[in-house]
Amino acid sequence: LDVIRTVEPRVADAIGSEIADQRDSLKLIASENYASPAVLLTMGNWFSDKYAEGTVGRRFYAGCRNVDTVEALAAEHARELFGADHAYVQPHSGIDANLVAFWAVLAQRVESPALQSAGAKHVNDLSEDDWARLRRSLGDQRMLGMALDAGGHLTHGFRPNISGKMFEQRSYGTDPETGRIDYEAVRAAAREFRPLILIAGYSAYPRLVNFRVMREIADEVGATLMVDMAHFAGLVAGKVLTGEYDPVPYANIVTTTTHKSLRGPRGGMVLCDNELAEHVDRGCPMVLGGPLPHVMAAKAVALAEARQPGFRDYAQHIVENANALAEGLGRRGGRLVTGGTDNHLVLLDVSGYGLTGRQAESALLDAGIVTNRNAVPQDPNGAWYTSGVRLGTPALTTRGLGVPEMDEVADLIDSVLRGTTPSVTSSGKASKAQYTVEDGLAARTAERAADL
Ligand code: PLP
Repeated sequence: LDVIRTVEPRVADAIGSEIADQRDSLKLIASENYASPAVLLTMGNWFSDKYAEGTVGRRFYAGCRNVDTVEALAAEHARELFGADHAYVQPHSGIDANLVAFWAVLAQRVESPALQSAGAKHVNDLSEDDWARLRRSLGDQRMLGMALDAGGHLTHGFRPNISGKMFEQRSYGTDPETGRIDYEAVRAAAREFRPLILIAGYSAYPRLVNFRVMREIADEVGATLMVDMAHFAGLVAGKVLTGEYDPVPYANIVTTTTHKSLRGPRGGMVLCDNELAEHVDRGCPMVLGGPLPHVMAAKAVALAEARQPGFRDYAQHIVENANALAEGLGRRGGRLVTGGTDNHLVLLDVSGYGLTGRQAESALLDAGIVTNRNAVPQDPNGAWYTSGVRLGTPALTTRGLGVPEMDEVADLIDSVLRGTTPSVTSSGKASKAQYTVEDGLAARTAERAADL
């Protein structure tokens, strides 16, 4: 920090303050974690300066032998850890990994057949007419993914994201009674809509997904099955999700982030069958700029960590902790979407406390508990205010908190939410954003949170 302080002291101060915040508060954001010092240090060095467009051994720049080493290592660890045919470790984030995957599927399923029928090897060899036809058919494809308020992700074909502009999209929700995926409803939607890509995977679904059934559905309608395991990659790596709950043997293509439950550097990754590998490897320059060698090196370190036996215990503890948190909240009267959890996250419907997700998120933050508001299925408060908060255990598990502490965390959350009331607006209505927390409760809770 002293070196940074000589140049821009305000950045040094912000880093110090961030470290203090992360140390003193309870980090329950389901997509966050604490990467190891080895991972963090691998990102802070001169690898960051190197340009390396291309793939291992086939670069558009000279002097890439060390980048080749770390990229090949990261890919090898990823293949071995997940049992995948091929791994592409260049994506800079989860959204980039998804873009690489979409374009790889489009290249395989739409562009390659078009080139073949025109007798061309490369898009530059196509006539103007054939090129125009190909562009139209690339823009004419369909995607079926999980609804946002059921726990799906924006990149799965929703309008505010580029995926929703690239594809005609439809979504499958969850059963209104159970809150769980209804596979027969997914099958019916797929039969009717005939998507090119069926996406499974989520950001806020607290249960397991049966990827064997998803693959059956994809095969039945001629779709490519893509699984976005950004949230639960650590549980797959740690062999908590096996058999039909492990997406790798069933999906044609799997994307992930590396910084959530996998506990690596901020970044993305694509795993795929051999048939898709050549298309995936064109991610740069198709949708990515030059790779980030320092981050690929850190991915290699994180994946090596995830291959150590201790990571299996870690993954197991994440799920045990999520279960304990869910039970603790449920016992105190908290309303949980689907009634509990099978994975690393819990979705608490805070309308039971008379609050919006936004009020709950803010009140908990005042009390040193960092969460994020999240829509619940058929949420009457929409995506901005919401009616839920999402709670995840990967970060607290990294800090060594266990089942007994989770009960205490549940108690802190429940007591803050019980002690919070919505403010009344000037028109006499309950505000969706403003709130008051009982006198002294936030400060008392923040002290208890810092001690955990
Ligand atoms: N996919 C899923 C399922 C996610 O939950 C997220 C992020 O929360 C992403 C993709 C995007 O990841 P990133 O923020 O690294 O772009």
